[in-house]
Amino acid sequence: MLVNTKELLNDAEKNNYAVAGINTTSLTMLRAVIEAAEEENMPVILSHAQLHEPYAPIEMMGPLMKAAAQRASVPCALHLDHGTTETYIYKALSLGFTSVMADFARFSFEENVQRTKKMVEVCHEKGVSVEGEYGEMPSNVEGQGRALPEGKTLEYFFTKPEKAAEYVGKTGVDSLVVSFGSVHGIYIEKPQMDYERLSAIRKALPDFPLVMHGGSGLSEEDTWRCIDGGIRKINYYTYMACEPAKQLTGYIADSEKPPYFHEICEYARELMKEKAAYAVRLFKNRG
Ligand SMILES: [Zn+2]
Repeated sequence: MLVNTKELLNDAEKNNYAVAGINTTSLTMLRAVIEAAEEENMPVILSHAQLHEPYAPIEMMGPLMKAAAQRASVPCALHLDHGTTETYIYKALSLGFTSVMADFARFSFEENVQRTKKMVEVCHEKGVSVEGEYGEMPSNVEGQGRALPEGKTLEYFFTKPEKAAEYVGKTGVDSLVVSFGSVHGIYIEKPQMDYERLSAIRKALPDFPLVMHGGSGLSEEDTWRCIDGGIRKINYYTYMACEPAKQLTGYIADSEKPPYFHEICEYARELMKEKAAYAVRLFKNRG
């Protein structure tokens, strides 16, 4: 069933777990994620990232995601991930998305507040929840954040607790992406999580759903510590999307005749379902 993110995150807050927000860039992936959530009997946030537009145009992918969410036996939100322009956010709204991320963190604090506030007004009128971002996570992928400026360490982008409360108060967002050590994509070195900062943010915003991007690749202990610290949504994609590659290569190489593309997709679906189910389980069970 199709729901908005706000009710999912409220339940997660009440029961101390995190909901997985997973990008689905194809029908194969979409089915893998829904099946994983159904098997685990957990809600899930089906996400479409603006930066994936070239591979999965939102006008084609959005209706597919919506149909899948409506058919699912578990609550599913239809979420725009990293909506970096107002035009694209409006497009998601017109397609029936129930949740959007207004990603203006690359701008100054004031401009971020002003642009996000405007989107909150438009979205709330339609019953759509809004995820804001204050503080940044470095990324080398265009449309997912900026690279760290030369000579700066990760702390340069970290969320400042008092400013986070000001941001939420001024914009009216329903959840907030915070930066305290996680990064997008694959971790090249062991992540250094600043749990004191997370706890200070939590204190400044009591009972408010916090969001972590870059959930792939954190250890189980780190993940659970983040959940205990108030993280209610964790974005997950990279490992599910990259890990099956090795097994798929073997599958194709070992086939006696060239497999049909739909057979490759079916095998990929099984592999990705395992990854998605692992994430959904991990975010639910806190060890
Ligand atoms: Zn992200």
